[in-house]
Amino acid sequence: MKLLLVANWKMNPQDLEEAKQLFNSVKKGVKNIKSTEVVICPPFLYLSNLLTPKTYNLKPKLGAQDCFWEENGAYTGEISPAMLKNLGVEYIILGHSERRRFLAETNEMLNKKIKKVLFLNIKPILCIGETQPEKEQGIKEQVLAKQIKEGLKGITREEIKNIVIAYEPVWAIGTGQNCLIDETMSSILLIRKIISRFYNREIAKKLKILYGGSVTGENAADYIKEAGANGLLIGGASLKSEEFVKIINSV
Ligand code: PEP
Repeated sequence: MKLLLVANWKMNPQDLEEAKQLFNSVKKGVKNIKSTEVVICPPFLYLSNLLTPKTYNLKPKLGAQDCFWEENGAYTGEISPAMLKNLGVEYIILGHSERRRFLAETNEMLNKKIKKVLFLNIKPILCIGETQPEKEQGIKEQVLAKQIKEGLKGITREEIKNIVIAYEPVWAIGTGQNCLIDETMSSILLIRKIISRFYNREIAKKLKILYGGSVTGENAADYIKEAGANGLLIGGASLKSEEFVKIINSV
C-alpha cells in the first residue's frame, strides 16, 4: 500500500506569496519521492494559484480542508466538491476535529459530504478521534464506532475502498503531546475491528488509516514503521518546509 502524507495548512499562511513559497519548497523536496503520495491541503483561496495546468500532474498533489454537500446552489459562503473537482483536487479532508468543535459539524453532515465527494470521484479523508475527557472515561471505542457508523452510513463495500480514515486523537492535535506508539497501534487495530464489524475483514485490512496529532520529523517514521499507520496527517509541522520534507524523507 502506498503511503499517504497529507499536509493540513489550516488557516495559514496569511498571504499568497508565502503560500507559493511554502508550496514550491515542498515541491522541490518531493521531486524524487516515488513510494509516497504527498498531498497539500491549503486554504481554498490559494488552491487555484497553486494548481495550475502546468503543475496538474506533478507532485505534490492538492487537497482541500472541507467542502459542502451539494454541487451548486443557494449556499452562501460554501465551496462545492464539484468546484474542487474541476480544479483537479483529488482529496478532501472531512470532519476535522476543529470543524466539529468550532463549526458544529455533525456525523450526519459529514455523511452527506462523503457521499457527494465519492460520487464525484474525489477521495474523502474522514477524521475521527476521541477527546481527552472521552479517553479518561474509557469510552474511546464507543466514540470511534459512533463516528464511523454515522459518518459512513449507507456507504457501500465498493465505495469504502476510496475512503481514507485519519485517526486523530483530539488531545494530540496541535498540543505537542503526540499519541504514544503503542496506543496509536491499538487505536488503529480498533478502527480495523470496527470497520470489519460494519463491512468485512478484507475491507478492514485494506483500509488506509493515517495517524495525525503533533507529528514531527523526529517521531513520524515510528508511526509508520512501529504503529502500523499507512500515512500521516500533519498540521503544524507542514507549515515549515524543512520539517515537512524531513518527515517525507524519514518515512
Ligand atoms: C491536524 O491539523 O490534523 C494536525 C494533526 O495538526 P498538528 O500536526 O499540528 O497536531
